[in-house]
Amino acid sequence: MFLINSPVSSFSYRNETFFVKRDDLLGPKFNGNKARKLAYYLPGANLTMADNNDFAKQNQDILNIDTVISYGGSQSNLMYSLSVLAKLKKWRFIYYTKSLSKEVNLAINGNLAASLANEMELVEIKQNFTIFCRELHSKKSDNQLVITQGGAVKEAEYGISQLACEIRLWAKNQNFADLTVFVASGTGTTALFLQKHLPEFTVYTTNCVGDFKYLTYQFLQLVGNDAQHLPIILPNNLFRFATPYPELYKTISAVEKASQIEFDLVYDPIGWHILLASLNQIRSRPILYIHCGGILGNTTMLNRYRYANYLLYKN
Ligand SMILES: *Cc1c(COP(=O)(O)O)cnc(C)c1O
Repeated sequence: MFLINSPVSSFSYRNETFFVKRDDLLGPKFNGNKARKLAYYLPGANLTMADNNDFAKQNQDILNIDTVISYGGSQSNLMYSLSVLAKLKKWRFIYYTKSLSKEVNLAINGNLAASLANEMELVEIKQNFTIFCRELHSKKSDNQLVITQGGAVKEAEYGISQLACEIRLWAKNQNFADLTVFVASGTGTTALFLQKHLPEFTVYTTNCVGDFKYLTYQFLQLVGNDAQHLPIILPNNLFRFATPYPELYKTISAVEKASQIEFDLVYDPIGWHILLASLNQIRSRPILYIHCGGILGNTTMLNRYRYANYLLYKN
């Protein structure tokens, strides 16, 4: 199974041309940046890096694995991608989350429904979630692969470097000497490894999950002392993660209308809003926006937007 060569679309909006790297179209089920991040665990998924010495030992360290374990939110895009990976590898998949709310239990949909259909074993941890998750790492046995929340693992570099190779080749074929790459950040893993493997271009990002400080910290966690090529963070000081803001809905609706592309409703509304507000601050053109997939989770966010609108216009 190859996870390579996603197409690039383009559209015009506000007198700018935007290119979109369509990782949402990477594969029918396994797509987006989560598939890139997990490509390491699928032998032969990449082309360009497959012979790279850094990854020569790829999969040797996972020969004995029969169970993958992770943790985080109950609508996580990573959770769903792990459920696909586990199914492909015939691994058991155990996922820990905090107690599900009544609303979630009443209407299991989106990523959660799809992951359960892939036989994910969901376990609710009612107390001391953070301590519990830390211990998953320290107490794991040889047959278990424990993936950090959001997939902030160094193994992600393998698939992201493939993405970088595709972008370089595309830019060359288009005769683009310069390029701005934009990707919305959660853990920052995608932005960081993209910038590392595309030193000739500038990668911009914005913090969707934590604040500016959190994202900087995440970068440094992943690179250690090698803090040379860090992406530029366009700070998001306003919007909280997975929260429905009317202005974000307006932005993403306009972008979707202009592009005829469906975007993720958790990261991309913040990503596009911040990118569009920062255009005069970004020098290089053209702009390539990385579509990281995740649209399976859109039902949940749409419900939140509808509910927020309902509260807004109730009276
Ligand atoms: C996970 C995700 C991101 C953020 O990726 P990180 O590598 O954690 O920064 C962005 N967009 C979508 C749609 C995602 O699913």
